Amino acid sequence: SIPLGFFGGIGAASKSGILVKGSNYLEALNDVKYVVFDKTGTLTKGAFKVTDISSSQAEISKDRLLEMAAYAEYHSTHPIAESIRTAYGKELDEARIEGYNEISGHGIEVKVDGKRILAGNAKLMNKEGIPFQQPSEAGTTVHISMEGTYAGYIIISDEVKEDAFEAIRALKQMGKKTVMLTGDSRAVGEAVGRSLGMDEVHAELLPQHKVEEIEKLDGKKSPKEKIVFVGDGINDTPVLARADVGVAMGGLGSDAAIEAADVVIMTDEPSKVAAAIHIAKRTRSIVW
Ligand code: ADP
Ligand code: MG
Repeated sequence: SIPLGFFGGIGAASKSGILVKGSNYLEALNDVKYVVFDKTGTLTKGAFKVTDISSSQAEISKDRLLEMAAYAEYHSTHPIAESIRTAYGKELDEARIEGYNEISGHGIEVKVDGKRILAGNAKLMNKEGIPFQQPSEAGTTVHISMEGTYAGYIIISDEVKEDAFEAIRALKQMGKKTVMLTGDSRAVGEAVGRSLGMDEVHAELLPQHKVEEIEKLDGKKSPKEKIVFVGDGINDTPVLARADVGVAMGGLGSDAAIEAADVVIMTDEPSKVAAAIHIAKRTRSIVW
């Protein structure tokens, strides 16, 4: 049977916008060693804005490059895709698109007007053997190629959530190790991690590599100590399921993430992880 005090704890959490799916997760939050965060949509707003467009071919204008990218991203629900479509702003004709393929952790491969377009990160260009330009400015870079030839890049910038600073500070004060796992570039991941004062940053990870990173952390702790993973669920449901306590953002998060998670933060504030640990501690002191 479940000690009655746990219902008090779950109730207190839900009043703070934290849905805990069972008393065992509240109990597990007492023994957390690592709090692992996804970056995009979790520590950052996930509201990207296009901040630069650079064409590397004289006959391709910036507008044309943005149009190609918007068509390539037509079917994608990734925050990057939304920002590119918003920046383009014009209506898109679905009939011009064929053979859409989203390559997880890389980007998009698609035919637009019968031409093969790739839109994604450096990993995608490397995979296809397309030499590309490396921009010097900060932000996430989406490289674009047409028919196997490099066409240019679009820079997209995201903002760190105000609340993320408090989230990391509070967890560090409790003696927790804070880790970021991101599919984004090392430059962007490390800049965000450094600004927040996180203990570890692992970047350029594919979704399955994120699970491997959790397994590595698992080997660095005692069996009693727990790992929390906090994500928005775009590409990270396997990690949410693998962690001892999977925490999803309820607002931005996908339905699949909310389903896979053990704890849901309705307000999308990462600092609620520290709040949940506080509630768990208070609950244990009442129950036992
Ligand atoms: P994160 O771990 O930061 O949430 P994701 O795993 O969702 O990142 O994506 C990893 C990287 O893959 C992105 O930073 C981007 O470079 C590339 N990518 C993913 N989806 C797209 C897309 N629709 N268009 C362009 N690039 C994409
Ligand atoms: Mg993500």
